[in-house]
Amino acid sequence: MHRQLLIEGRWVDAAAGETIDVIDPCTAEPFCTIARGRAEDVDRAVQAAQRALDGPWGRMTATERGRILQRLAQLIIAHGDELAQLEARDTGKPMAVARADAAAVARYFEFYGGAADKVHGQTIPYLNGYNVSVVRIPHGVTAHIIPWNYPAQMMGRTLAPALAMGNAAVVKPSEDACLTTLKLAELAMEAGLPPGVLNIVTGYGAEAGAALTAHPGIHFATFTGSPEVGMQVQQATARNHVPCVLELGGKSPQIVFDDADLAKAAPIIVRAIVQNAGQTCSAGSRLLVQQGVYDRFVETIAHHFSALRVGTPEMDLDCGPMINAKQHARVRAFIASAIEQGVPLLAEGKLAEGLSPNGYFVAPALFGPVPRTHGLACQEIFGPVLSAMPFTDEEDAVRLANATEYGLVAGVWTENGSRQSRMARRIASGQVFINCYGAGGGVELPFGGVKKSGYGREKGLLALEEMSTTKTIVQHYE
Ligand code: NAD
Repeated sequence: MHRQLLIEGRWVDAAAGETIDVIDPCTAEPFCTIARGRAEDVDRAVQAAQRALDGPWGRMTATERGRILQRLAQLIIAHGDELAQLEARDTGKPMAVARADAAAVARYFEFYGGAADKVHGQTIPYLNGYNVSVVRIPHGVTAHIIPWNYPAQMMGRTLAPALAMGNAAVVKPSEDACLTTLKLAELAMEAGLPPGVLNIVTGYGAEAGAALTAHPGIHFATFTGSPEVGMQVQQATARNHVPCVLELGGKSPQIVFDDADLAKAAPIIVRAIVQNAGQTCSAGSRLLVQQGVYDRFVETIAHHFSALRVGTPEMDLDCGPMINAKQHARVRAFIASAIEQGVPLLAEGKLAEGLSPNGYFVAPALFGPVPRTHGLACQEIFGPVLSAMPFTDEEDAVRLANATEYGLVAGVWTENGSRQSRMARRIASGQVFINCYGAGGGVELPFGGVKKSGYGREKGLLALEEMSTTKTIVQHYE
C-alpha cells in the first residue's frame, strides 16, 4: 500500500517522488509507504489553503461549516472499525484503545461542528455616535504538526476547532504514524469539505515539518511533541510573527494522601501510566504517596503491575509496543540505568508469549522509592514506567508535585474537601483531577500546560478562541 499527499483536494505524490517506509512496531518490518513531502510540497499546500480561504470556504456561513464537520463526525462513526484497525496497525496500540481513539475523533468533530455557529462577538459602549463591535475571525492558514502517540485524536483535537472557526489547514502528521490522518482527510472530502481547506503533507519533521512552520504563508501553528522540537517550532514561527500553541508533554503527579480511598485510586493510577504504553503526554508518571500509607499502597500498585501484559493489537492486552526503535532504546535505557544505579525495581509486567523478538515491546516497570532528583523523578520517559516517592505532609506534597519543569496534569486523592481545594489551587498544572484521572480529559475540557509543558489551550470552547483572533469594528453615525 502506498499513501500520497492531499493537496487542493487531489491525492498526489511528493514533487521529488520520494517515499518513506512505514514500520510495524510489533515486528520492525515495513508494511506500506507514505510520500516524503518536502519544502516544495509544503509550499503548494500552503498556497492551496490560501486559495481556499479566498474562495467559497471564506464566504461560507458558520452553520454550513458546522454541518460539514458534523457530517464528518457521522462518517467517522461509520468507519470507526476501519480507523481503529489502521491506528492499531500503525502504532501497535491495543484494539480497545484504538477503538476509543476513533470514537474520540468523531466526538471532536461533533462537538466543534455544533459549536461553529455559537461563537458570538461583543458590542462595546463607546462615544456618542459610534457603534463598536468585536467579531471573531479566523487566523487564515493554520499549520498542524501532529505526533505519533494519538495521531487520529490529535488530528481531531486541533483540526476540528480550526475548521469550525473558518481557517484552512495544512497538516504535517508524524512520519511514524500517519495512516489515520490520511483516512480522516479522505472522509473529510467525502463530507463535503471544499478542496484546499484541508491539505496533508506527510514527511520527516526536519524537512516537511520545519518547512511548514517556517513558511511565510501560515498565520498560526499548533504543535504537540517534545520540548526540544517545540522550541524549534517557536523560533521558526517567531521569524514571521506567527502565534502558536505548544503542547510539550509532562511528568504528571498522582498525589495520594493517607485518607484517600486507596482501593478506588489504585486501578485508575495504574491505567493512567500504562495507557498507550506510557506514550501519553498526560500520563500520571509520578506516584507521590503520604508516608503512613506508602508501603501498603505501593504494594497494591506492585500487584497490579505484576499482572500487566504486553502484546500486539489483536491480543488486546494492557500495553502495546513503543512506537519506534529510538523510543524503545530510550525507555529501556531509563530502566537499565535506574536498576544499575540501585533504584529499587518493585514490579514488572510481562511480555506475552509468541511476540516477534524484533518488536519494540517494553515490560511496564514500577520503581520506588525514587530519589527526588533522579531522572526517573524529573524527566519525561514516555514509556510505561511509574516512579513512586513518599511525602510527609501537604506542604511537602505541593513542593514535590511542583518540583519538575513540567506542569500539564495532576491527580489528587483525598477525602478532605478543604485539602482538595487547597491542592487544586497550589499545584502548577493546566488540569487537576480530584479523586479521578482523565489523562487529558474529555473533548469538553480545556487542556494545555504551564512551565515547559507549553502554552495555549486546546479542547473545550477555549480552543475556538485559540484558533481565531478578533477584529474591532468602529462605525460612526450622524
Ligand atoms: P518530536 O517532537 O520529534 O515529533 C513530533 C512531531 O514533530 C512529528 O510530527 C515530527 O515529524 C515533527 N517534527 C520534528 N522535528 C520538527 C521540526 N524541526 N519542525 C517541525 N516539526 C518537526 O517527537 P519524537 O522525536 O517523535 O519523540 C521524542 C519525545 O517527544 C518523546 O520521547 C516524548 O517525550 C515527546 N513526545 C511528546 C508527545 C506529546 O504528546 N506531548 C508526543 C510525541 C512525543
